Amino acid sequence: MSLRIATACLTFACIGAAGQPDWPAAKQEALQTLVDLVKLDTSQPEGNEILAARYLKQRLDAEGIPSEIFEAEPGRASIVARVKGNGSKRPLLLLGHLDVVAVEREEWSFDPFAGEVKDGILYARGASDDKGVVTGSFQVLLELHRQKTPLDRDVIFLGVADEEAGGVKGITFMLESHRDKIDAEFAINEAGKGVFGRDLSYSRFEIQTAEKTPRRINLKAVGTSGHGSIPLKDNPVGTLARAVGRLFDHEMPPRLNETTREYFGRLAEISEPGKAEVFRAILAESPTAEDYERLRELSPVYHSMVRTSIVPTILQGGYLKNVIPSEARATVDIRALPDEDPERLFSLLKRTMGEPAVDLVPHPQTRPSHDPSALDTKVFLAFEKVLGRLYPGIPVLPTMSTGATDSAQLRDAGIPSYGFGPARPEWDLASGIHGRNEYLHVKAFEDYVEILWNVAVEIAGAP
Ligand SMILES: [Zn+2]
Repeated sequence: MSLRIATACLTFACIGAAGQPDWPAAKQEALQTLVDLVKLDTSQPEGNEILAARYLKQRLDAEGIPSEIFEAEPGRASIVARVKGNGSKRPLLLLGHLDVVAVEREEWSFDPFAGEVKDGILYARGASDDKGVVTGSFQVLLELHRQKTPLDRDVIFLGVADEEAGGVKGITFMLESHRDKIDAEFAINEAGKGVFGRDLSYSRFEIQTAEKTPRRINLKAVGTSGHGSIPLKDNPVGTLARAVGRLFDHEMPPRLNETTREYFGRLAEISEPGKAEVFRAILAESPTAEDYERLRELSPVYHSMVRTSIVPTILQGGYLKNVIPSEARATVDIRALPDEDPERLFSLLKRTMGEPAVDLVPHPQTRPSHDPSALDTKVFLAFEKVLGRLYPGIPVLPTMSTGATDSAQLRDAGIPSYGFGPARPEWDLASGIHGRNEYLHVKAFEDYVEILWNVAVEIAGAP
């Protein structure tokens, strides 16, 4: 008998069946929690994350799990709860953000705050970004507590405010004012995902280990106003147009880091020969500009992943057809590689514009530069191991987001952070995130909860 158990132990990573959650019940409960959460309107800019924090606190109280709510400002709440381990290792932090981006209700075919599930899909603001991740992390905490899973490190749950506005009233506040409550050896956050095809079977899993940092700038050109019939050399519309044009044309040099190198390397292994050749070319000793151009033709996302990108997004100037205005303005969305030094970048941009009359003012920098999270850590290896066990043969890739998350602050604070969330369909990876009709496949969500629990046990479970 004991021999049989020992054998099962070897094959199933030493978690006795008794230690497993009751999955059908746990998944049903998680979906209900998610539906409850999306019904609470925590949209920016007000946030009102306190609504979600209070709801979760009530649930934790009922379960007997102690929790605390921290407010950076009235209503801008984050919630922390902890399941204790034996303390032999430092904690694992599971987090997601409670706020969502605002909705344009008239654009939606569904009430964005009704939590409607139709044909196996939940349609709601926050379904994918990021209440699915909040709920998955929350359910894992509940199950660890209920199953009394032996842990050699604490597992901390954090539902955090203000991510969509850069995290100042959320993760930055928590790190600066309550670091002791969330300090951890590793974090698991949003942004990675599985990818599935038409039959809902997975084609790959992506673990986010790096991300670009927003370094947006405002530009302002001033000049002499006057009559449209008399050309003036310092016309700010012309000056600004030249400056913006030069920035637009300026291609920052390509640069790979450990994550992107591994990403394109593993992508090459699973891609058809034509694509694989492009990926291998940029990984070779000295890739040419043509190689990078071919990468760009494959996807603008790949193009953005290998360099700091410069994208003009707003141009404003003038108000009458026959009047030279005294000023013109522009905004340029810059997404820097994670380790790019902002000051060096801004002075390079000034030189590139070559227009002393154009003022460059950086936006507030809420996301710090940081080192990507390493790939040889307990967390990344746990994802590979668990996904390999649950979904044998499906590739696992480390990836770098072109967008930003709270992981920037965590990594900068010395807490390597790994992004993983519910899977999205190959044909619509954006899944309405930040747009209209945001959605989440219920099956993908349920699988995610189970994966995350297994990963947490792999990392924090006592042998
Ligand atoms: Zn998000």
